[in-house]
Amino acid sequence: MSKIMDGKLVSQKVRNEIKDEVSRLGIKPHLAVVIVGTDAASQTYVNNKHKACHDVGFQSTKIELPAQTTEEELLQVIDKLNADKGVHGILVQLPLPKHIKESVVLEAIDQEKDVDGFHPYQVGLLATGLDGFKPCTAAGVIEILKHYEVPMEGSHAVIVGRSHIVGKPLIQLLLDENATVTVAHSRTKDLASVTKLADIVIVAVGIPGILTADMVKEGAVVVDVGINRLDTGKLVGDVDFEPVMEKASLITPVPGGVGPMTITMLLANTLKSAKKVK
Ligand code: NAD
Repeated sequence: MSKIMDGKLVSQKVRNEIKDEVSRLGIKPHLAVVIVGTDAASQTYVNNKHKACHDVGFQSTKIELPAQTTEEELLQVIDKLNADKGVHGILVQLPLPKHIKESVVLEAIDQEKDVDGFHPYQVGLLATGLDGFKPCTAAGVIEILKHYEVPMEGSHAVIVGRSHIVGKPLIQLLLDENATVTVAHSRTKDLASVTKLADIVIVAVGIPGILTADMVKEGAVVVDVGINRLDTGKLVGDVDFEPVMEKASLITPVPGGVGPMTITMLLANTLKSAKKVK
């Protein structure tokens, strides 16, 4: 049996379900994506989101602003999108140019349209177990684990990385699944002694190969959130893939693991928003 948890396959399954639901909905969910500047990686991410929207029958608007756009100008654009009843989801592509404060911009997005789930209000809903928009990458990890019927209840899940966008929301989502959760980070002493305890280890650090085989328990489930571009141009995760796969019972590859799920969960959140206002 293959040990690979195929994020492309899970993603396609969820996208097909979304497409079916859209065809019955009577309105087109509409996602507006704002991008400031010409960062090549951000452009690629935004284009991928745009294409994914069209593939499932959503309307998608891309608003491209020059790098010198001021914070005030960006806030005006967001205000307009907030007021537009035909827009169900707003996403501001990060990172923003240095002169614009990210937190100010994210907090300006109407919470009802915050399909990235980064607004403090959404974070509060998640923390208190109330229904809201779950941050897409973290939600994508849970979706993959569920698809492969990985038992989470009672399992010991170790998350490596404590960012607002991946590690922290995963704490809550795994607790919601009744896992016992440990979080490791850059100040953790003896990372291996922590990861070795994990039934499920999720790595979201951004350092190629930081999780090596000696850090993983035999039979553990390994989820690699990392996306790192090597000097050779090759895309790799945070897991030393081949040796870790030998010991793991299930593992996500990079590319083709968590990556495709992030946009899929963004589509799911936008559909959820459109259904609320319908
Ligand atoms: P971040 O830089 O915000 O956070 C990295 C985390 O790793 C921090 O919490 C830090 O404490 C921890 N860390 C750093 N060095 C460490 C060490 N030596 N030992 C243990 N922990 C350490 O990064 P992020 O935004 O959470 O992204 C992490 C990785 O996931 C990146 O490679 C990023 O590209 C990738 N990512 C992928 C997706 C996706 O769609 N698959 C989405 C978001 C991020």
